[in-house]
Amino acid sequence: MTASWIDPFEDAHIERLVAQYGSPLLIVDCQRARAQYKKLAKALPGVDLHYALKPLPHPAIVRTMLSLGGWLDLATTGEVQLAQRLGADPRRCIHTHPIKRDQDIRNALAAGVTVFVADNPDEVRKFRRYRDKAELLLRVSFRSPGVVSDLSRKFGCEPQDALELARLAASLGVKLRGLSFHVGSQAPDAGMHVQAIEVCTALLAAARREKLGPLDTLDIGGGFPIDYVEAVADIGRFCAPIRKALKAVPKRVRVIAEPGRFISGPSAVAVSRVMGRAQRGGAWWYYLDDGVYGSYSGQVFDHGRYPVRSLRKGPMQPSVLAGPTCDSIDVVAEGVPMPRLREGDIVVGAAMGAYTWASASEFNFFPKATVVSVNETPGDKGSVLEL
Ligand SMILES: *Cc1c(COP(=O)(O)O)cnc(C)c1O
Repeated sequence: MTASWIDPFEDAHIERLVAQYGSPLLIVDCQRARAQYKKLAKALPGVDLHYALKPLPHPAIVRTMLSLGGWLDLATTGEVQLAQRLGADPRRCIHTHPIKRDQDIRNALAAGVTVFVADNPDEVRKFRRYRDKAELLLRVSFRSPGVVSDLSRKFGCEPQDALELARLAASLGVKLRGLSFHVGSQAPDAGMHVQAIEVCTALLAAARREKLGPLDTLDIGGGFPIDYVEAVADIGRFCAPIRKALKAVPKRVRVIAEPGRFISGPSAVAVSRVMGRAQRGGAWWYYLDDGVYGSYSGQVFDHGRYPVRSLRKGPMQPSVLAGPTCDSIDVVAEGVPMPRLREGDIVVGAAMGAYTWASASEFNFFPKATVVSVNETPGDKGSVLEL
């Protein structure tokens, strides 16, 4: 990093930001988001990366992705409006929610977004009236019982039903751009991506033989994993089998991906402070001003286990970190080594950009963390997200 960038994950900068903005705080580092994008782009050469807003719909990250020449993956009217407000070129955006209200389709079309996803006959029929403007990717399901969140149970058509769905779209005059899949987030390895690429490549060829559409796009979704308490393979190594599988995809097919977690996850830390403490059952309990109803909501919804540390140094003892609410489920970590903390001490959770603040609530009137982004441009030492 050059002198004009700060490292907001260093203790001194965390202390400065908490002094300036209070706690709880989510510090979003655009420089790390940039580095993640570049790492994935290098691991998947020739694949156009559409940043999925869902895990962290933060304007500074979206702008950072756009400034790198990235594309966007939008799934709701709110995400479409955010992209529009930031001046994103709608031709660089796709709408990937497999189930939409007519109004959602119209909102996206009005914003200039024309590529949509469908995975069943009723949804395909919704596009008949928009066939002059809208184009479809058909989402295919590949079950991954091993992944943390299996997105192919809720969405996607069975591979053996995909051709019939493509025939339906063609018969309605809806333009078929291609196929998509999402093997599930935080994939343990690339095995399911590879299998899905092979099956979809064959399906694309079969659908093209029947002249069902241009069928020139393959969307390989997200799922690219990051380090939490448990480390994962480096992304270059993780993607090696995917690179190999993509060699068999015809050149005329544009390959795109929808990374969310991989971009935003490592790009933020959650900073909280000790509100009070008590000794219970022989262990120290520290009550933080952020917890599982807040930025640590990913522990419930995303099955996340985040590395936590305190800025205070000292001899460690197994301790309990609890959230601020009056609910017993609101415990962040038990048996976690911590020095003897005091009121006001700072505790930092790492890898907390994805599926954390985005799913936080204000239960018990404890406000969601203030979000501060840094390093969007050289010299950017912090600006607060105004919603
Ligand atoms: C959530 C989601 C993503 C992002 O997935 P990650 O595993 O976080 O990369 C991408 N595409 C769709 C359709 C999604 O629902």
